[in-house]
Amino acid sequence: MSAKNKILVSNIGSTSFKFRLFEMPSEKVLAKGGVERIGSTDCPYTISLGDAAPEKGTASFPDHGAAIRFIEQKLGGFDGIAAVGFKPVMAKGISGTQIMDEPVLRAMEDYNTLLPAHNPPYIAGVRLFNQLHPSLPCIGTFETAFYDHIGPATYRYPVPLEWEEKYGIRRYGFHGASHRFVSQRCAELRGTDKLRVISCHLGGSSSIAAVVDGKAVDSSWGMTPQSGLPQNNRAGDFDCFALIYLARNLGLGLDNVEKALTSQSGLKGMSGLATGDIRDLDEAAAKGNANARIALDMFANQIRRFIGQFLLRMNGADTLIFTAGIGENSPSLRAAVCANLDFCGLELDPELNAATRATETVISKPSSKIEVRVIPTNEEIVIARNAWAKLQESH
Ligand code: ADP
Repeated sequence: MSAKNKILVSNIGSTSFKFRLFEMPSEKVLAKGGVERIGSTDCPYTISLGDAAPEKGTASFPDHGAAIRFIEQKLGGFDGIAAVGFKPVMAKGISGTQIMDEPVLRAMEDYNTLLPAHNPPYIAGVRLFNQLHPSLPCIGTFETAFYDHIGPATYRYPVPLEWEEKYGIRRYGFHGASHRFVSQRCAELRGTDKLRVISCHLGGSSSIAAVVDGKAVDSSWGMTPQSGLPQNNRAGDFDCFALIYLARNLGLGLDNVEKALTSQSGLKGMSGLATGDIRDLDEAAAKGNANARIALDMFANQIRRFIGQFLLRMNGADTLIFTAGIGENSPSLRAAVCANLDFCGLELDPELNAATRATETVISKPSSKIEVRVIPTNEEIVIARNAWAKLQESH
């Protein structure tokens, strides 16, 4: 085996850099941590090496380069690292697991307008790694990759055909690493790959995937991560003619409507609170705030809308999975999603559900025809596995 057997999985946000260092192929986590509020003089950082207690502190990092060099020094250099793994969202005409070279980065740039919060910092971060360490391959698994086998009757929009051919207007799918991880883990736990799974990733952003025998067959997403389920502060699916009406006829202007749909909508916008966090909405609803209650009910309704669609799509389901911040930690939302489903034989165990937070647990009754599980997600491990496999392919 080559001496370089580590994969550094990196997650780059506009003001953050998070990492996890894996030894491969054992998948042992050697280190993890990150830096936040990059660009300020007071950036909090955390670094955990092996089993040692985490080192926490604050330091000044004017840019991502300074943060990466700091992490490199803390890890004792990048010499044993075989590749840096990334989880980019999407690029024009490119998906799967890719070496993040200039043509791939330029294809991501083509979609900067669609992903203003995601693509620009990601592209800059990968370029930085390529500059700082030109011999270290950067390997990204696009979030769209899990859906690469979905057929045109599912991904095509009912719009002029040339929009897809010329401009790539179609449905894709995101959170691919998360849905792949939990559906694979479910197959391991159930001891069979032959499964119809509905995977609910409910967190800061939320999505649902329908997965048959390990392959995604449908998704709640549309063309961009602004679509599908209502999100923390983003609208999700919204009638495009209401948008045209607001922007053109009511004079709100396209930029303002875009801003409202991408940052002042979703659970936050509907509740009228300063937050879309489920914990805050639960608390407000318990105190009698009607709009917080409606926002929570609407969220559960929209989740059920997709679950219903996917139950038809797959002629039923073997397992319904809940994952991510809300899916793993909110018994009340899980109970609302699973209520009144005896028509399809789904029976949640109320006590197990109430007691389960972020642990691998079956929360349905033994008699339930559809098993319900909480499976904590682990997107980083999927990125590390794919980067490692890509390296083995190219050797
Ligand atoms: P991100 O997309 O930022 O990674 P997460 O998957 O961590 O998001 O989910 C964050 C969301 O999870 C929060 O906004 C909140 O709504 C929800 N959440 C986190 N912890 C809890 C909890 N204990 N109970 C209910 N909801 C929770």
